[in-house]
Amino acid sequence: MPVNPTRRIALVTGGSSGIGFGIVERLLMDGFRVAFCSSDPDRLEVAYRILNTTTPAEDIMALCADVSDEDSVKGMFTDIRDRWGHVDVLVNNAGISTRRANEQPWIFDLSLEDWDRVVRTNLTGTFLCTRFCARDMVENRWGRIINITSLAGRTIPLIAGPHYAASKAGIFGLTRALARDLAPYGVTVNCVAPGRIITPMTGSAEAPVNIAALKRIPVGRFGTPADIAGAVAYYASEDAGFVTAAALDVNGGEFG
Ligand code: NDP
Repeated sequence: MPVNPTRRIALVTGGSSGIGFGIVERLLMDGFRVAFCSSDPDRLEVAYRILNTTTPAEDIMALCADVSDEDSVKGMFTDIRDRWGHVDVLVNNAGISTRRANEQPWIFDLSLEDWDRVVRTNLTGTFLCTRFCARDMVENRWGRIINITSLAGRTIPLIAGPHYAASKAGIFGLTRALARDLAPYGVTVNCVAPGRIITPMTGSAEAPVNIAALKRIPVGRFGTPADIAGAVAYYASEDAGFVTAAALDVNGGEFG
């Protein structure tokens, strides 16, 4: 097991499910104390109980917070500061999508409400969480910010909608701009771009959309949350101190 002698503190947004839960498990395994949030208290509680079977309560913190809401994000950081002081590693993972209503061009049915909800969660949420923890990182002259974007944000998306693709494309730009801004202070900012990972967001591997998607993945399997967590663990590590403004594709060779 990799050792983290300084017991650094990580925050994973959207840690109650899928990829985020896998990242929380991996960072705990690597020796971090890990706070994680989600907006649904019941799912949060279930995730906490599972983690607490193998991890002592003093090493995990489950926080009910909506990353798209500034007051909620502020409250979450206040709770972390009150208990653990600061955040060393921020993983901006929380994200949502919405489903297509029918086969006509998506833009005909894309409501402003859906656009705002997806962009506010995926992109604005990343900005808000970063803003609240960057000051401590700058003062400590050490920090890691890792943004979960998507293959859909850097290719012509085959499944995702325009709002999701735009929000994820925005994360590439935000990552590079923040990396430039924070580099002089020992804070790195990178992103991980997953391909098709089976989670509650993508649904069953047996769903027709996923059976079709599998044919486009050269390695011949879907990704797992652990595949993404491995990439995040690298960016979070001491080894990655000279890596910033980078994007790591974790997609089994699928490149739309
Ligand atoms: P899941 O739906 O399984 O998990 C999403 C997580 O985000 C949940 O914990 C959810 O909890 C949380 N979340 C959603 N909205 C908010 C919010 N407003 N505030 C706080 N937490 C929130 O999805 P995945 O694990 O598949 O996705 C994780 C990330 O990976 C997302 O950013 C997604 O876009 C990205 N991604 C996923 C891919 C895949 O194939 N699965 C491919 C490429 C990128 P709750 O609902 O309780 O708030």
